[in-house]
Amino acid sequence: MKLDLNVQPLESWIKTGKEPLLIAGPCSAETEEQLVATAHLLAKTGRVSALRAGIWKPRTRPGEFEGIGSIGLQWLKRAKDETGLPTAVEVATAKHVDEALKAGVDILWVGARSTVNPFTVQEIADALKGVDVPVMVKNPVNPDLSLWIGALERINNAGITKLAAIHRGFSSHEKTAFRNEPMWDLAISLKTHAPQLPIICDPSHICGNRELIGYISQKALDLDMQGLMIESHIDPSVAWTDAKQQLTPSDLVEVIERLTLRKPEIKGAELQDILGGLRNQIDKIDDLVFQKMAERMKIVEKIGNYKKENGITILQVNRWDEILNKRTAFAKALNLSTEFAEKLLELIHSESIRKQTEIMNKGQEGQPHENLTHA
Ligand code: PEP
Ligand code: MN
Repeated sequence: MKLDLNVQPLESWIKTGKEPLLIAGPCSAETEEQLVATAHLLAKTGRVSALRAGIWKPRTRPGEFEGIGSIGLQWLKRAKDETGLPTAVEVATAKHVDEALKAGVDILWVGARSTVNPFTVQEIADALKGVDVPVMVKNPVNPDLSLWIGALERINNAGITKLAAIHRGFSSHEKTAFRNEPMWDLAISLKTHAPQLPIICDPSHICGNRELIGYISQKALDLDMQGLMIESHIDPSVAWTDAKQQLTPSDLVEVIERLTLRKPEIKGAELQDILGGLRNQIDKIDDLVFQKMAERMKIVEKIGNYKKENGITILQVNRWDEILNKRTAFAKALNLSTEFAEKLLELIHSESIRKQTEIMNKGQEGQPHENLTHA
């Protein structure tokens, strides 16, 4: 499914300059001095295309610093006047949109806690009607691609064509090295649905720490994301919000300079030939995989019919355990990761169960069709 988004290229609304495109600035504007001094240092690096700063902060718990509020808009204005950097702020209500636009903010973004709520996104979209301003939409806190797409559509439907998505990772019950799991497949999926939509990665909020920012930035560029938004503070150790994930402007430059830029398109006839040959091989193997899957499903159907005739349940846990154990051990011996093997088997198994459920229910139309899966 291709999305019908009417989007202008990134270059039409932000000076891309030296690659990668970089939006940087403190998590929060705290004081006029902190913001303006950070902006000067960032501008001096020659690497930054826009200055970000949160002035209305959506906090998980009450009582935490909830942003400096509207006064911060004047500080952003001063930072922009003195450095020439365009400015970007998070907006979460129609009032924020109006105030930010009146204060001459150049780019608006919708935060992860707002994207989860269609009422909030629609309120922002309504406030944007008839306005020509770039808007970036962060992914929702929870890993729900439709919610992210829905928010982009609402903003786009309001007439905003200078549109980008920001990938900032997703909440997960699993504790990992990251504050928010990258779940790259969701960002890749968005890209597949809307190839024309620029995606900017926010390694600060994915990592939750300084150390992994370079790693995530590199990965984002290797996945052909169009830019990075990284939190930078003149003195991260005393930052009022997100202290652990901000870099000083000079550390930021170091991280950026260590990144390798790779091209999405293939240059040179020889490389083209080599890659073309390898891709041919992959296509042939993929065809074989599907052929074998179809053969497997035919046998699954036979088993389904046999189970039906003999009154045997579809799922037999022991058999499933046996498949899982034997195959993952085999996969390991073949140098395939256990996680990959398990995921693949679960996908195949749930399709097999779906097929057998269909067979079991055939001829018993009045009954609800249960969709058993092993998610
Ligand atoms: C932020 O950018 O400072 C912020 C609050 O991010 P998010 O909405 O991704 O949590
Ligand atoms: Mn932050």
